Amino acid sequence: MQDKVQKGPEKAFWIVYKTLQYFYPIAWKRYKAFFGVGIVKVIIYAVLPFVKIMMMPLIIDELLGARNFHRLVLYAAILVAGHTLLSLCGSFADVTLEKYQEKMDNFFSEEMGRRVMTLDFQLTEDKKALDQIEAARTGMEWYSGGVYGISMELFQGISNIITGAGVIFLIALYAPILFELNIALLIVSAIINSRNNAIEIETYGRMAKINRIFSYLAFNMMDFRYGKDIRLYHAKEMMVEKWEAYSNECRQYWKWQADKKLPLGIFKSISESVRGFGSYLYLGILTIMGKITVGTFSQMISAGNTFQYSLEGLIRNMQEIIKRSSYAYEYVKFMEYPAAIEKGERPVEDKTHTIVFRNVSFAYPGSNTSVLNDVNIQLNPGEHLSVVGLNGAGKTTFIKLLCRLYDPTEGEILLDDVNIKEYDYNQYMALFSPVFQDFKLFGFSIKENIVLDKNYSEEEVSGLIGQVGLSDKINSLLKGTDTILFKASDENGIEPSGGEQQKLAIARALFKKAPVVILDEPTAALDPVAEYDIYSHFDTLVGGKTAIYISHRLSSCRFCDKIAVFSEGRIKEYGTHNELIGIDGGIYAGMFAAQAQYYQ
Ligand code: ADP
Repeated sequence: MQDKVQKGPEKAFWIVYKTLQYFYPIAWKRYKAFFGVGIVKVIIYAVLPFVKIMMMPLIIDELLGARNFHRLVLYAAILVAGHTLLSLCGSFADVTLEKYQEKMDNFFSEEMGRRVMTLDFQLTEDKKALDQIEAARTGMEWYSGGVYGISMELFQGISNIITGAGVIFLIALYAPILFELNIALLIVSAIINSRNNAIEIETYGRMAKINRIFSYLAFNMMDFRYGKDIRLYHAKEMMVEKWEAYSNECRQYWKWQADKKLPLGIFKSISESVRGFGSYLYLGILTIMGKITVGTFSQMISAGNTFQYSLEGLIRNMQEIIKRSSYAYEYVKFMEYPAAIEKGERPVEDKTHTIVFRNVSFAYPGSNTSVLNDVNIQLNPGEHLSVVGLNGAGKTTFIKLLCRLYDPTEGEILLDDVNIKEYDYNQYMALFSPVFQDFKLFGFSIKENIVLDKNYSEEEVSGLIGQVGLSDKINSLLKGTDTILFKASDENGIEPSGGEQQKLAIARALFKKAPVVILDEPTAALDPVAEYDIYSHFDTLVGGKTAIYISHRLSSCRFCDKIAVFSEGRIKEYGTHNELIGIDGGIYAGMFAAQAQYYQ
């Protein structure tokens, strides 16, 4: 998003404009009734103060003058009935509007969830983007009050304008000096309010990072999946200590905010007292001099107060709108967060593909260290490639680049001789069925975890379950493939072992039926028998598809056509098992010899 370089109020108004421009067309399209009720609320609250302002002087002058009983009853009835009726309608409008709060919050949260899930993967490891997500979430949900919160200020603001305009007319008519006094004090309170808001915005800015860390800690502390590690490694104290440290830091920010606001609060109270005193003095003199009646005296006091409240209210509304918009704008900024990788429009043809890495080097964003250096490799259609190397050699990074989770820093990756950046991103992503080391299963049913939202047949699902060796396990479950995973999602949910989870992840990858299957250390959590099972069915599992297989266990390499040995971000050896095993002093030969003794 292009932020124009603007300062001070100009920037604040620009942010309000951008925020309203983003939210209101969407809100208007979905929640027209909300705005209808909003207009009713505006009118009711604008008119409400006038019932008292207009009726009270009539009652007082009647009491001090003719004391006509019927007239008094009539005035009092109009006053009470008018006030009650309008208040009731106002409350009804408020309650009706409140019902929209959750609806709108949920809608915009859902939209944000969608955006988070489709965000360029690279950004999920980018600190700036993560901070932006946190700022958007807290800004929208907590601080701005969302579209509902901003709208309430807008509605009240318009009511205040109408009320203020009405009473200003009355005051100017009877007591012009009172009008000037109110304006002077209004300026004072505007300055105080804007100072208060600046302080709050500064506090919020400082808290964004801490809130992100807090969410992380809260999530880990409360999530029982971390339970084993926390207990066995005595991480509890460390977690609590960190929590307390961040709490203290938070407290300091809140204290800083409170200290800064205190003198402003005192100054504001004094200025309000001055206004009250001045009004009574001036109107008292006018009454004693006989220029106005006692009724008008009370009317002017009432109008003065209403003028003060409505204009002060208006300024507060405006400042609230500015403040809330500046929070909600974080949401807008996130929703319009610039893409991290280039995306083309070229369609991916429905045929077998050749993939080529040409002089590819890569450093993770924010790092100067190259993790891949000048990688060159060709993957032919239907070829099975095994990628081996020690931890940190760059194997997973190689896969991430292939799947376009990141773009190379140098060099290019070609699909059928065309740079992958030129292809339609979603069509390109659809080519791959990866199972990453850190794959995640959802707290949904087994079946849903395999098919996600795609069409499926029961036979296909049970066939896949058989292929990955889970039939016995799933047949033993009362609800079969409808069993929910994890107790956190369902009290009858199951907690599959690491190996079972990995098998489910493999079944999910195979169900996708993408032409390129990628298994990144897929057998790490499997026992040797299960591992052998997967390997020996490897050909049936991936069929004639192109497959990339990352594993520490070199026995898997025998099932592959080619082996690429990564070391320090480079492909140091490349060839078939027999070719590599024959290299004297070669990395692969050495690794194979070291592992072979365990397998003999
Ligand atoms: P392998 O899969 O061979 O174990 P990786 O590709 O995961 O190796 O990692 C290669 C190098 O890149 C390692 O030094 C690792 O610390 C670093 N690395 C991995 N992921 C990131 C990341 N998101 N940000 C920065 N460095 C990373």
